[in-house]
Parts: sequence; structure tokens; C-alpha cells
Amino acid sequence: MRTIIEPFRIKSVEPLHHTTPAERERYLADAGYNLFRIDARHILIDLLTDSGTSAMSTEQWAAIMRGDESYAGSESFFRLKRVADELTGLRHMVPTHQGRAAERILFTVMCKPGDVVPSNTHFDTTRANVEFTGARAIDLPIAEARDTQARLDFKGNMDVAALEALIAAEGAAKIPLVMLTVTNNSGGGQPVSMANIEAVKAVCARHGIPLYLDACRFAENAWFIRMREPGYGEWSPKRIAQKMFSLADGCTFSAKKDAFANIGGLLCSNDDRVFQQETNLLILTEGFPTYGGLAGRDLDAIAVGLEEILDPDYLHYRIVSTGYLGRHIADGGVPIVEPPGGHAIYIDAARMLPHIPPNEFPGQALAVELYRHAGIRSVEIGSLMFAGAAQHELLRLAIPRRVYTQSHIDYVVEAILEVNAKKDAIRGMEIVEAPPFLRHFSARLRPL
Ligand SMILES: *Cc1c(COP(=O)(O)O)cnc(C)c1O
Repeated sequence: MRTIIEPFRIKSVEPLHHTTPAERERYLADAGYNLFRIDARHILIDLLTDSGTSAMSTEQWAAIMRGDESYAGSESFFRLKRVADELTGLRHMVPTHQGRAAERILFTVMCKPGDVVPSNTHFDTTRANVEFTGARAIDLPIAEARDTQARLDFKGNMDVAALEALIAAEGAAKIPLVMLTVTNNSGGGQPVSMANIEAVKAVCARHGIPLYLDACRFAENAWFIRMREPGYGEWSPKRIAQKMFSLADGCTFSAKKDAFANIGGLLCSNDDRVFQQETNLLILTEGFPTYGGLAGRDLDAIAVGLEEILDPDYLHYRIVSTGYLGRHIADGGVPIVEPPGGHAIYIDAARMLPHIPPNEFPGQALAVELYRHAGIRSVEIGSLMFAGAAQHELLRLAIPRRVYTQSHIDYVVEAILEVNAKKDAIRGMEIVEAPPFLRHFSARLRPL
């Protein structure tokens, strides 16, 4: 059979709510043309993020009932620790309430003003947390990643020569750690090859710099390695993931991504001294080290999710269905970041709307138009999110795990092609007010 089906059936459903064009126009104006500020009940198809939006399985809901809510030493923690230890092989693990809490603790312990933290591409919260310590967050993607149309197997890779040059210029003492984001979210959801992780690790090891994975989508990355990198075609996704983690000295992880959980994160490290400091900070702001700001039941949901995410049938469906959305809009003439990523499709808004300059936020203008036209929520990843550091003007359509069916995606394809047909009439935006950090979450804008 050639048809690839969703590898699950549906036991519990949530109704969707339609809105009228006039209602959507009013919601947009009230929200300052920022889709983060629109109430979820006014959204028809929500592709804002794949974070915390997964549908949990029957096994995860069953695990939730087993949650042990003991303050210290809960059974749920040890169930999670067994799964995490087996997967990562890293010596120490603490849960955190989500990925950015792990980031804040990690960078607070490891960074000081004047330091430099390189990554293939920092995610927005990662960049903000590095910079909050007074260190600089530097992106070193491979040069080919700048061209959104280049079709590379591992377009999320780090530029290893650029990393060498940065270490030579800054000195290893100013680089407390190197990060690799797998898959590379802000770089288009593109995977990082095992060969690249190995090459980065070799450079880090030579200079005595620890390598950390921002492991949010480790399973999707493992699947791409299996499909595309010679030598891994017969490996299980789990074995590939284990090898990825074996090259790292630690990791941050958002369980809201590749653990099918609605909340949670992990911080792992091989360094006893660093881990002790991290634990002290964790107790100050997150909670006791065996729950880290989560309920015991959340730890159990994550433990089950970390195993389910590595199911080859799921990963096959996941990567193929994301590609389905990408191919259908790209074949209809919409420029996307090629090739399609793992968790999301990114429209190249600068290329689609060449009449709107970056300082008038083409990605945001497109996000607003897609909501206005069809009630679909997406997110700008460009000059609104990253201000001067933006490399591209993208609109991200993130796909929640196990939530939408093919007919939902067909509706999204139709809406995007209709918006594309009237793209010349789309106007830019300007900021009315914005906070100093992570401004895209709460800024207010107006159409020009
Ligand atoms: C989501 C994400 C984070 C932050 O995780 P949260 O759970 O949202 O705090 C960090 N890095 C990457 C690559 C992410 O996708």
C-alpha cells in the first residue's frame, strides 16, 4: 500500500469553532495584530507551535493516573530517570517546568558577561537566556543555509570551520559551552547530521569546551539521520538518538516537543560540579530536584512520551505528513524553506512578498492575512522575533503532534494558495509598542 495513514485512531475529540470574516477583523484589531494575543477559541486551525500541543496517548493518560505526588523521591521521578538515563547516557538529570527553565539554569551557572555561546542557530528563548547573563549568543549555520531554496539533506548543520575561527578569535576560555540545536528550529526545522555532531564534538574536545544539545526534537533528527545519512538505514531511531546523546556533555530539552507532553523539560549534564550548582539554583526557583516544578503525573507522561516518540511508524508518518503540507504549497507556487523540515513548514515571506521590506515585517503581514482569510494561526520568525539578528523573514506553520488529520492539512493548503493568489495586495506592518525581551510575544502592531 502506498497511502500513509495516521498511525492512531481517535478516542476523544475536541470541537473546532468557526468565526466570520468580520469577527476575525475585530479580533485582529483588538489583539494589536499579534496572533499570540488572540484567544484560542477564536482560532480554527492552530499552527502557532508544536510546543505542548501534542495529543497524548492512552498510555500517557494511564501513566498520569499513576503519578506519585510525593514531594521528595517520587516514584514518577525514578520512572522518568530510568527512561532518560537509558536514552541520553548522561550522568545527571533534573526535570524543569519547561525547556527555557533548563536554559536559564544552565546559562546562569556556566556563562558570565563577555562570554560567547556559539550554536548552529539559537532558538529565541535560548538566545534571550544567553544574552540575559551578559554573554553573546552567536549563530554559526553552514553558509548554504542562508539560501532558503537550497535542498540539502542536513541543512541544520553547524559551520565547523567558522566554529574553529571563532574559538581562535575569542579564545576557548571565553566559550563556556557550544550548543547544537537538533533539529535546527529557527533554521527551518532542518536536521543536523551525525557526522556534523561528531565534527563539532571533536573541535570542542580539542579545546576543552563542553558540547550541549538543545535536544527538543531529537527523535525527528534521529529519523532524518536514518533516512538520509549513509550507514544508519538499518539503525533504530532509539539507537541513533543514543549515539547523538553520547557525543554530548549535556543537554537541555523541552518535553513539550519530542515527548508528547503538554508541559515539562529536562536538564542533563555529565559534569558533577556544574550539576551541583544547577541543582542549587533549581531548588531556588523551580522546586526540589526530583520534581523540578512539575507534578509527579507530568513526569510520568514525559517518561512514556520519550519512548513513544521513537516509534518508527510514528516518525515515518510525522516526517511524511509535514512534507505533504510543504510539497503541496510549494508546488502551488509558494516559496518555502527547502527541503521541508521535521515539525514545521516555513514560508519564505521575503521571497513571497518582495514588496514588503524586512522593517515592515513581511512574515507578520502574512501571518495576519492567513488568519484573516481562514482562521489559521501561524507565527512569524523574522525581524519581529529577532529584531536586527534575523537571518530570514519566515512564516512558520508548526504542526502539533497527532492532532490534525489530513483533511485539516488540505484546508490549510487551500487557504495558503488562496492567500498567495492575492499576495500583491498584502501590506506591511509597524510596531506600536513592544517590551525589551522576546518582543514578539506581546508587541502591538498596526497595518501600514
Ligand atoms: C521550544 C524550544 C525551546 C524552549 O522550550 P520551552 O519548553 O518552550 O521553554 C528551546 N529550544 C528549542 C529549539 C525549542 O524548540
